[in-house]
Amino acid sequence: MKNIIFIAPPAAGKGTISNMLTDTYHMTHISTGDLLREETSSDSELGKYIKEQMQSGALVNDEIILDLLKKRIAKDDCNDGYILDGFPRNVEQAIAYENILKELNKDLGYVFLLDVDKELAKKRIVGRISCPQCGAVYNEYMEETKPKKDGICDKCNISLVKRDDDNEETFEKRFTTYFEKTEPLINYYKEKGVLYNIPASCGKDPTFAAIKKVMFGE
Ligand code: ADP
Repeated sequence: MKNIIFIAPPAAGKGTISNMLTDTYHMTHISTGDLLREETSSDSELGKYIKEQMQSGALVNDEIILDLLKKRIAKDDCNDGYILDGFPRNVEQAIAYENILKELNKDLGYVFLLDVDKELAKKRIVGRISCPQCGAVYNEYMEETKPKKDGICDKCNISLVKRDDDNEETFEKRFTTYFEKTEPLINYYKEKGVLYNIPASCGKDPTFAAIKKVMFGE
């Protein structure tokens, strides 16, 4: 299976689509947001710095993220295709990533751009809740993705949680960061001929279908 990169504004559905790919094709899902959140659970200076950056909606320093990512993709479960959800976030990271790929003898694979309208993204963020155990993502305000029981994971039957940075104020900053830092990646990958534009405003099933079509022509 080829590796996958998702480029998308906050709440475009990267996490949800990654989970669908993992469930269907058993690919390894690497969310750099989750890798960073794991670091924030320690009381170290690094943990505090990461927490502050994430809460402000700014990007975490490239060196930190590259180090975490390199260690993660060198693991055995990344030998048969992995999904990068949240990386690269700027052109510098993309260039550094290609050097890591060369070193580890891995391929870039597909780059999917999930295209979504800003107002819809905001609605998704403000109502977003997820399962701390299986990572499933729900939205308390959207019928399509509401949990069956309020605030409880359909699969694990435990309480869903809300991320610290899923509020309106941080959302605006995250969106601005996306336009300034991440959007230039669109041209970067377009020029390499590896970018696929996937409309992502119409729900998870049509989005997933469009991705499968690129991957398998189904
Ligand atoms: P979203 O895509 O919905 O904003 P993520 O979980 O991917 O959520 O990211 C949350 C935060 O983690 C970002 O706002 C940023 O502070 C940090 N982060 C995640 N990935 C990266 C990265 N590749 N480089 C720098 N910072 C990152």
